[in-house]
Amino acid sequence: MGEVEGVQVYQEIMHNLDEIVLFVDAGNRILHGNVAAREALYYENEELAGRPINEIIHNNEEHHHRYQWQGNIYRKNGTCFFAEFKRITVAAGEIETIYLIRNLEKEKKQEEEIKKLQQAMKELTQARQSFLANVTHELRTPINGMKGMAVLLKESGVLQEQQDSIDVMLSCCSNMERIVNDILDYSKLGNGKLELVEEPFSIREWLQGIMSIQESVIRQKNLACSYMVDPAVPQTVVGDGYHLGQVLGNLLNNAVKFTKEGKIIVEMLLKEKKEHQVVLSVAVSDTGIGIAEEKLEGLFESFQQVDPTITREYGGTGLGLAIAKELVTMMHGEIGVESKSGIGSRFYFTVVLGYVEEEGKESVEELVGTIEKEAVPERLQKLSVCMEFESFEKAEQIVHQLKELWKDDKPLWSKQAFRLELALRKQKQEQIVERYEKLVAMVQQQSIEEKVR
Ligand code: ADP
Repeated sequence: MGEVEGVQVYQEIMHNLDEIVLFVDAGNRILHGNVAAREALYYENEELAGRPINEIIHNNEEHHHRYQWQGNIYRKNGTCFFAEFKRITVAAGEIETIYLIRNLEKEKKQEEEIKKLQQAMKELTQARQSFLANVTHELRTPINGMKGMAVLLKESGVLQEQQDSIDVMLSCCSNMERIVNDILDYSKLGNGKLELVEEPFSIREWLQGIMSIQESVIRQKNLACSYMVDPAVPQTVVGDGYHLGQVLGNLLNNAVKFTKEGKIIVEMLLKEKKEHQVVLSVAVSDTGIGIAEEKLEGLFESFQQVDPTITREYGGTGLGLAIAKELVTMMHGEIGVESKSGIGSRFYFTVVLGYVEEEGKESVEELVGTIEKEAVPERLQKLSVCMEFESFEKAEQIVHQLKELWKDDKPLWSKQAFRLELALRKQKQEQIVERYEKLVAMVQQQSIEEKVR
């Protein structure tokens, strides 16, 4: 390419640039501007030449030490827009400096719009969260009222049938209470309003307390359950027992909810001991429905549920694990899960707690507990004793549990148990005997078949 051709190519490029290009001489006068300059600054052909650069970039000399800056650029009619300036000193012939100028008006507007949107989003989130907090707070009062009244009613000497209805009411209230509490905590966490307390508490008593809350459901579902605390874990730790209980309670509640048969194990180990702090690791394992590998990701995010059909069957809001994660993070720990579909799950978390040094106590006791499950033959035996002594109420309870236990896997047994339950409720002697014998025969038949196999 010859020299003349080269210059033409450069001019061509320059004229097609979206950026404004101004050539300026040593006396700060414009020599030439490209098409973008003329169009953006409203000058006709060659009108730019000879004008002092200060007319276009006011206070240009203030920036003489800079290569790049942002500010206003002025048009011929005195209006201005926001731009980015780059100054390149070339000192080639007449040309002393070249200015490359980019219009930032669009970007500025976009930035302002983004900021406005962000602010609106923030306000909306805050409004939603305080709405949630208010509504859930307001809901707690009537729930507590209903619960209290139901307890009073139960204690006022009502019939057994009515007692059963009251029990259903109470369990509905508890479910509702759990959901409301979850939502309340979630909104508090989102608002940054949840503060943890630092209080000493006995970690072993704490664990027993959490286990006892789930005990009746574990028994009802006839699950085996054991729990243990490593002897190295100090007796008294310092932290927020209530919120720590919420984390374990949620995991345990899920383990029980998603397990039809088998075992639940809760273990607490000492992971690390520093001068004033301990790191505890807690794991909850179950032999429940498990979670498919591809569903594990994002499990700890709010409203995340593995499958709508699972939710329909087991209930839940999808908030439990998200809350547990937030709380564990606030306690400087981590939460995770290992699971296999159809085999079971193991949820685990760590937390950092303070502890109280116990003088003269080198090793602390180990806590091992179990919630025993009763085998079906033992329950049937108990049932026959109850019937022999005409303790129909107790018998009805056992039959009810069996009915629930067999509901999914042994629908025929469950139906028969239900018939017996009705007969017991009506206290019809003949029917009771007949239905009981039929039920026992069904169960025995199966065990004979199993033995033959
Ligand atoms: P939910 O109130 O729906 O139980 P969670 O946040 O506690 O909400 O749990 C989210 C989802 O994770 C559940 O809906 C369930 O699909 C799955 N999940 C949690 N724990 C278990 C578990 N132990 N076994 C199987 N699935 C589980």
